[in-house]
Amino acid sequence: ATPMSIISGVGRAAEFGVLVRDADALQRASTLDTLVFDKTGTLTEGKPQAVAVKTVADMNETDALRLAAALEQGSSHPLARAILDKAGNGALPQVNGFRTLRGLGVSGEVDGQTLLLGNQALLNEQQIDTQALDDELTAQASRGATPVLLAVDGKAAALFAVRDPLREDSVAALQRLHREGYRLVMLTGDNPTTAHAIAKEAGIDDVIAGVLPDGKAEAIKTLQRQGRQVAMVGDGINDAPALAQADVGIAMGGGSDVAIETAAITLMRHSLAGVADALAISKATLRNMK
Ligand code: ADP
Ligand code: MG
Repeated sequence: ATPMSIISGVGRAAEFGVLVRDADALQRASTLDTLVFDKTGTLTEGKPQAVAVKTVADMNETDALRLAAALEQGSSHPLARAILDKAGNGALPQVNGFRTLRGLGVSGEVDGQTLLLGNQALLNEQQIDTQALDDELTAQASRGATPVLLAVDGKAAALFAVRDPLREDSVAALQRLHREGYRLVMLTGDNPTTAHAIAKEAGIDDVIAGVLPDGKAEAIKTLQRQGRQVAMVGDGINDAPALAQADVGIAMGGGSDVAIETAAITLMRHSLAGVADALAISKATLRNMK
């Protein structure tokens, strides 16, 4: 193995907008068999939009949106932006005791009412009956929308369906990776039904969903214990431990600084086409050295 040709491989990658940290990273990238993708912002645009609101009998849409938006003012999650946009510009009530429940949602009090906003796991954890909204939840999730539930004083009150479409170039890049023989996996904290619907649209083989932020690195470890050589592709702060655990961490351009600092490979552009380019260059470089 000549170090010179590895260095020229790193240089060639840069011409394709792929920044490779060191020779070792290029070498590891040439022997991968499994590619794990974060969903939000990596496979999808990461700019979710609230497309539907469903409320229970004694709640109206406007009030439900005001309460949800009031809570989301304190959150930096992409879902928060979607709820705030849908609520519009009106004044929002004051929130006391705001809390972020990582991987689940948010909570707080408005006008003496206790509010919870987040996924089904969050409401289940509090033994809140979601039955009145279950049909809508299943319908939205099986279409690939993320259901966000609002509970007021321990009662399910509303469901917001939020859509985050696949990035325009995701499907073509994933098809190319598939043809090259990689096993493609989606890793997400989102609802399993939603995740499966989007995976199907994207042409992804396996889904690991409902994962709490701390569970992402553990999920990578499990694949490695099965003997897989794993790359993790992500863009968020949440993804950093999984990027570090993977045999090769790949950060999407324009993502969080923490992701970029952790990753062995950084894509200058925010496009999955760069993943296929990076892996093809690594293989070609290592092949030329034999
Ligand atoms: P991911 O980045 O894969 O979406 P997260 O761990 O950030 O995973 O979130 C997991 C799930 O927790 C989300 O899909 C959503 O259902 C819920 N959630 C997290 N934060 C919020 C929030 N601010 N508002 C509503 N739901 C949230
Ligand atoms: Mg992301």
